[in-house]
Amino acid sequence: MVEYLVILLDNTSVSYCHYPNDKVQHNLIPVEILKKGIMYAMLENLTIQFVYPEYALPNEYNDVIETIDHCKIVPSTFEDKSLRKDADVIVFNDWIGLDVFHFTSSQSYILRTSKTDFFERYLFLNGVLEKAGRLNVVLTDIETFSEDDFDKYQKILVTLSKKIEKLFAQGKSPQLNLLTDRMLLSEMNNCNAGVSNITLAPDGNFYVCPAFYNLPVVDGNEKTLDDVCQKRFSIGSLHDGLDIKNFQLYRLDHAPICRNCDAFQCKRCIWLNRKTTNEVNTPSHEQCVVAHLERNASRDLLLNIRKYGAFLPDKEITEIDYLDPFDNLNT
Ligand code: SF4
Repeated sequence: MVEYLVILLDNTSVSYCHYPNDKVQHNLIPVEILKKGIMYAMLENLTIQFVYPEYALPNEYNDVIETIDHCKIVPSTFEDKSLRKDADVIVFNDWIGLDVFHFTSSQSYILRTSKTDFFERYLFLNGVLEKAGRLNVVLTDIETFSEDDFDKYQKILVTLSKKIEKLFAQGKSPQLNLLTDRMLLSEMNNCNAGVSNITLAPDGNFYVCPAFYNLPVVDGNEKTLDDVCQKRFSIGSLHDGLDIKNFQLYRLDHAPICRNCDAFQCKRCIWLNRKTTNEVNTPSHEQCVVAHLERNASRDLLLNIRKYGAFLPDKEITEIDYLDPFDNLNT
């Protein structure tokens, strides 16, 4: 059942996940489409998440947005500084500005980073974890991980775990998606694009997620990139309603590998699946191994910090001897 509507306010709305958004040409959502999107959400009882571009919106738009309860996702470089202070989620597209940013415990932060930058700069996150309400690290090139990278990643997770353990010992409850999410989950908590959330783009069409609006596909007949995206990846429109072809393919129970997995914190990114395996319900080896390294590091962390947090679940994360469930299926 769809519960959330993501509304991209502009073609250049910040990416908050694995997909890139390389669009530079502004294309603000027409205010009439914005109003219709809000009405659609009200009629369907959906919670709205507005995704902002870098530039400040006209006042008319801010007034319309404030007519409904919502969540704001803004880039760290958002020009409207007072609105940035009210945002629910702030996205860093790289490590620039992290050292001077005023983090608060009431906001959540997303850091999109390449593996190379993460491997070189991860220690900087120690300071962020002390101040931020929550930090989600999103690796933007998981598909390029090598065996050597997996080893490095595992060691880095151990180092970050030690910092988190120290914070728990001080009575704090830091949240880092890579390590603390799995500790608290007892079932899958994936992105669920196309199932529990859909996206409305400035063109008035629905997409499975923002990644599919931004997907640059050329079939030879297109006039503009947006035409192609509409033609290929739209799952309906405000005008014609929602029409998700092969809806079941996005669901966990139709994902043969994931439905038996217990890396509950894994995003199970369907855009990444499609990019790496051409199937929206089949993950790549790299996505699975990275998620299992996080799962196993969370297991060790939970064992170490249970003494500090009464709210932590009693149930242990079991020890397993594989990193890719696909390998496990084949043995
Ligand atoms: S780790 Fe792999 S199998 Fe498990 S949920 Fe993630 S993508 Fe699916």
